[in-house]
This record gives sequence, structure tokens and C-alpha cells, in this order.
Amino acid sequence: MKTYDLIVIGTGPGGYHAAIRAAQLGLKVLAVEASEVGGVCLNVGCIPTKALLHAAETLHHLKVAEGFGLKAKPELDLRKLGGWRDQVVKKLTGGVGTLLKGNGVELLRGFARLVGPKEVEVGGERYGAKSLILATGSEPLELKGFPFGEDVWDSTRALKVEEGLPKRLLVIGGGAVGLELGQVYRRLGAEVTLIEYMPEILPQGDPETAALLRRALEKEGIRVRTKTKAVGYEKKKDGLHVRLEPAEGGEGEEVVVDKVLVAVGRKPRTEGLGLEKAEVKVDERGFIRVNARMETSVPGVYAIGDAARPPLLAHKAMREGLIAAENAAGKDSAFDYQVPSVVYTSPEWAGVGLTEEEAKRAGYRVKVGKFPLAASGRALTLGGAEGMVKVVGDEETDLLLGVFIVGPQAGELIAEAALALEMGATLTDLALTIHPHPTLSESLMEAAEAFHKQAIH
Ligand code: FAD
Repeated sequence: MKTYDLIVIGTGPGGYHAAIRAAQLGLKVLAVEASEVGGVCLNVGCIPTKALLHAAETLHHLKVAEGFGLKAKPELDLRKLGGWRDQVVKKLTGGVGTLLKGNGVELLRGFARLVGPKEVEVGGERYGAKSLILATGSEPLELKGFPFGEDVWDSTRALKVEEGLPKRLLVIGGGAVGLELGQVYRRLGAEVTLIEYMPEILPQGDPETAALLRRALEKEGIRVRTKTKAVGYEKKKDGLHVRLEPAEGGEGEEVVVDKVLVAVGRKPRTEGLGLEKAEVKVDERGFIRVNARMETSVPGVYAIGDAARPPLLAHKAMREGLIAAENAAGKDSAFDYQVPSVVYTSPEWAGVGLTEEEAKRAGYRVKVGKFPLAASGRALTLGGAEGMVKVVGDEETDLLLGVFIVGPQAGELIAEAALALEMGATLTDLALTIHPHPTLSESLMEAAEAFHKQAIH
């Protein structure tokens, strides 16, 4: 049996970060991958969605450019669009392969099964290690009454734009994936209806900024229905007749569409992994139980990323991978971080830290400061004045607790807020930091000034 210091199962963002950091720390590392290097994020998640969103946004810009005197007649070539998406993915996955090799990580293709606490079987061969990192990720959740297939898509199928655009698309789920893909299809020309069970889209986020994003999406023609559930469908000659009902029950309605995209969440991918053989415990939703060191119920066996726990985000998986690798190498690392989240629609939505509600529940004396982007010179020059920056803080201590942004490049702006939170910044720190003019980043400073009732704009 070949033996290693560490075996990492899965090479998504979590797994490849773990493998590389462990190798940097001098461990002999084997990484096992059943599918493509780079996992969901690079192959069918973060990266291809952003490539498609960029193309859809470019098309949108060309259409609205007439308003400032530029006329263009864009033509859509779906085959080429698919090619662009694949080209971006290929560059990145190839890069990860090179990084693994360059750092001396041995890569083994095949499906790994645990056969003991520190033993793995791949393609009939056994491999042993002092430590294991389980980084097997997640897969789309099916919705009752909507089995995935030709008519009902998961997010992976929805990425294949070259296979044709449905004229009418129903998106079930108002989280990041549903919103992003819904906007791609809308901008490429489909009629899009999006339903969300909860009272507002992005139910885990700040409802006020989420509502602003919803309005922006509605303005460009996406029909959004909140507090609504889809209960089943029937395929007829003229399309899929989907039954919708109010979330609380009551009289329903029917929508007729050509395809349904189910984006209601994801579940940990642990089937067939043999967790029971290694006595690794999972929680009631099937996520592998871990402590702050990313260690499972079995000492020396770590779990990271989507397989371990929400939020299901690549940058969270990456950081957890580094922590697990450092612990496997004998260091003492723990996860104690703020995890920002971003929705890459345009306008973008981004948030980090506590919402008003969460801050109140945590016992803070909550106050907010808001800055509408309609007052931002830079936002106006970008044609993106619909949005706001909202800061949540503690009135007594002036401590910054959370930041929520809707607007252009919100995903880039939120990094400053994440740094401020990590450093324990006060609203005064944010307000006193000189931000270049004219930039979108000034809006953070302005929101902090508004918190102190000293806004200039
Ligand atoms: P994964 O990326 O799921 O990788 C797990 C890997 O393990 C896979 O390659 C799989 O083949 C392999 N594997 C599984 N079981 C075995 C086994 N037994 N043996 C060998 N190999 C195995 N997150 C963001 O932060 N930003 C975004 O913009 C974003 N956009 C997204 C868009 C979409 C459409 C989707 C679906 C997700 C998006 N995500 C985004 C979420 C992000 O993709 C995940 O959080 C991230 O990929 C999780 O990384 P991971 O390493 O835990 O697992």
C-alpha cells in the first residue's frame, strides 16, 4: 500500500488549496479527483456563470448605450458564447493542474472511498495516510415534483447556452445561482419568471438591499414572485404548465413555460464516500461535522468546503482548506472569519457581517447609515445609480458590524468592508479614510458619515 502524509479527496477550491498549502508545509500529498480538477467552482459554478454574466452584461450595455449616443446592433452567436465560457474554464482548470504539479502534489484520477479512518481505496488500489481531508463538495438539490431532466434543469444544464434558449424560463429559487442565471437568460432574450418561497429574494441577506436588487431585476423584465412555491407541472403541447401556490397556502395559479431551472440549494456530496467506515459523523442535513480546526469526529480526518457546512462559497472552502492543511501539518489553525457573499448580477449585491436583525439579536444597540448611489458621481458616470451602501454599526461603541451593497462592482467594494470588520474598525475609521474621487468606494465612506449624521452628499 502506498502511503502519504496527507490524502485530499476532491480538487475543488477547498481541496486544491488544502493540497498546495500542505505541500508547501513539507507534507507528501496525494490529491484524488473523480471528475475535473477545479471542482464545481471552476467547471460548472463560479467561473462559467461569471463568463456568461459578463457576455450578457456586454450585450445589455450595447443595448442601453443608445441612451448616450452609441448605436450598435449586436448579434447573438450562442455557439461562440459557449466557446468563450469553455475557454475561460479551461485556462483556469489547466492552471490549477499546473499549480498542483508545481507544488509536488501527486494527482490521482478516480473515485475515492474510505475503507478505514486513514485508508482510501481508488480503482481497486489502497492508499494510506497520516491525515485525510474530505473536500468532496456538493451537488444540486432536487425539488419534489420537479425531477431533473430535459425539461427541468439544474444549474449545470443551464450553463449550456449553446444548446438553445428557451423562449420562457421559470427559475425556482431567488438565491445567488437563480438570480445570476435568471439574469443571463433574460439578457440573452428569454422571458424569465423567478419565484422565491421566502418574503424577499436572497433570504439570508439584508432585506432592504435585496429588495433594491429585486426592483432592478424587475425593471429589466424579470417577473419576480416572492412568497410563492411551485408544486408540480404537467407537460402539454404548448409547454410546461407549472402550478404555483402562495407559500402560506391558498389559491394558486398556473404559468406556462418551456423550461424550468431549479436552483433551490445544494446538498453535500458524500454518497458512496464510506464515511461510516471511518466513523465520520454527519449532521441532520448530511454535512460532515467539523470543529473550528476543520477536524471531524475522527482525529486527523478533516472536512472542508461545501461538504462540511454552509455557506456554500468558494472563498470559504479555500480558507477552510488552508486551515485543515495547516492543522494536518502540525500547526494550530482555526476558522474565525467573516465570510462575504456576492451576487454577480448587475447591479451586483454584496454583504458581509451582521444584518440589522442579526445585530439586534446579538444584543447590539443597532444603528445604520445609508448612502444612495444616486448621489455618487462615479455611479452616475457608469449609468449605475440604482443602489446603495448600507452600514450596520453599534451606536454605543461605534463598532462596524455589517455592510451591504447593491450597485456596480459591489463584489469588489465588499473586500474593503471585510477588511474593516476583520480589523475591528469603527464607523469613524471608515469615515476618516480618504477614498479617491470619483470612485464607487467613496460610498462606503459616505455611508459611514451618514451613520454619524454627517453626510455631505
Ligand atoms: P467542489 O467545488 O464541489 O469540488 C469537489 C470535488 O470533489 C469535485 O471535483 C468532485 O468531483 C470531487 N469529488 C467528490 N467526491 C469525490 C470522491 N469520492 N472521490 C474523488 N473526488 C471526489 N461560490 C462563490 O464563492 N462564488 C461564486 O460566484 C459562485 N458561483 C456559483 C455558481 C454556481 C452555478 C454554482 C453551482 C456554485 C457557485 N458557487 C460560487 C459555489 C462554489 O462553486 C462552491 O462553494 C465551491 O465549488 C465549493 O468548493 P469545494 O472545494 O467544497 O467543492
